[in-house]
Amino acid sequence: MSAADERQDAVVIGGGFYGAAIALYLARRRGFRRTLLVEREAALLSRASYNNQARVHNGYHYPRCLTTAYRSRINLPRFVQDWPQAVKRDFTALYAVARRNSRVTARQFERFCREIGAPIEPAGPELRGLFEPQLIEAVFRVEEYAFDSTALAAWAGRELEASAVQVRLGTRATAVSRGPRNVLRVALRPERGDEERVDCRYVFNCTYSGLNQLLTDGPDHHAGLKQEIAEMALIEAPPALAGLGITVMDGPFFSLMPFPARNLHSLSHVRYTPHLHWEDAAGIDPYRKLEGYPRTSRFDRMLRDVGRYLPAVLDATYVESLFEVKTVLQKNEGDDGRPILFERHPGLPGCFSILGGKIDNIYDVLERLEDAL
Ligand SMILES: Cc1cc2nc3c(=O)[nH]c(=O)nc-3n(C[C@H](O)[C@H](O)[C@H](O)COP(=O)(O)OP(=O)(O)OC[C@H]3O[C@@H](n4cnc5c(N)ncnc54)[C@H](O)[C@@H]3O)c2cc1C
Repeated sequence: MSAADERQDAVVIGGGFYGAAIALYLARRRGFRRTLLVEREAALLSRASYNNQARVHNGYHYPRCLTTAYRSRINLPRFVQDWPQAVKRDFTALYAVARRNSRVTARQFERFCREIGAPIEPAGPELRGLFEPQLIEAVFRVEEYAFDSTALAAWAGRELEASAVQVRLGTRATAVSRGPRNVLRVALRPERGDEERVDCRYVFNCTYSGLNQLLTDGPDHHAGLKQEIAEMALIEAPPALAGLGITVMDGPFFSLMPFPARNLHSLSHVRYTPHLHWEDAAGIDPYRKLEGYPRTSRFDRMLRDVGRYLPAVLDATYVESLFEVKTVLQKNEGDDGRPILFERHPGLPGCFSILGGKIDNIYDVLERLEDAL
């Protein structure tokens, strides 16, 4: 093992949207002159920040968690302002409520939207006519957007370079320990070459599903996470659905969302998208688990069920499926809330674990960072 020659102000582990945005924040807002961003994949924003439903949340999704709903309402306009090039707005967003097995009625959903100040109006007859009336109680037009993760990745690459953040791709961080004179020491394993170690003042663990997998000194410290292998089918939507984003609330239903990175739509289904889940624990590497997973698509089953509610979808063309590990806080399993996780490591001063939960939560994370530093 060789020691890297110069000490860093900060090492950010994980080059997803969160790691990139945090590294930039440190370099630009906090004046950190030496920031290293380490990513195990060959490209930035290639994991959960790419393999997701691309929804910029505006609260509608969270009738069971008002805090998350309100935060989304506050964060969406900021996200649209800061990343206009990555936000797709030119589609009609619809939320529908099912007659049976729904956890929310149309009236309750409408009342909830008004309570959080989220725009909602009944959809006109043409849009309503897309749905099977015996199964769908009401259809609403709402204001919700999609993001293009390739535009976010382009932004990250460009800005990190301009801010002189050093980016190491194809490199995995394996451990964080206490070095001499109060420094933190990060062990790095590049795909090729010898293991290295880097000394720094701060470490930001932004590894999403890998959050509990880094070896650390001091008392055992693990965030309570649930891991889930999720499948999202990418489809070419038939003309009748091409300009739409559709979500059926709230229960065992589905979403058909624009996926701007590929100019396709994603189809996800509450029953078929989650393939496998487990309680996260150190030593059960979620990335390895996904690598070994057979990835047999359940698209047919998704389509069959979605077609009952939205017959036009049966004319969709299947392209491929994205599989990714989705990581959520165990404590939010019941209410579907998506707060951030922001924790200091109890045994390693200067080492933080950060989980964003959803893309617009970046503002909640940056607020916490501002206080913490
Ligand atoms: C199926 C699915 C659907 C979703 N839908 C939405 C949605 O519609 N809207 C929304 O806002 N959010 C959604 N999310 C959540 C959203 O994708 C995440 O909140 C966000 O992408 C997390 O960003 P991140 O940077 O924390 O994670 P990532 O983008 O996964 O970045 C973490 C990075 O860390 C790297 N890494 C891991 N371990 C190490 C290590 N030891 N050393 C070096 N690098 C390492 C990984 O390779 C990865 O690139 C969804 C997530 C999934 C999985």
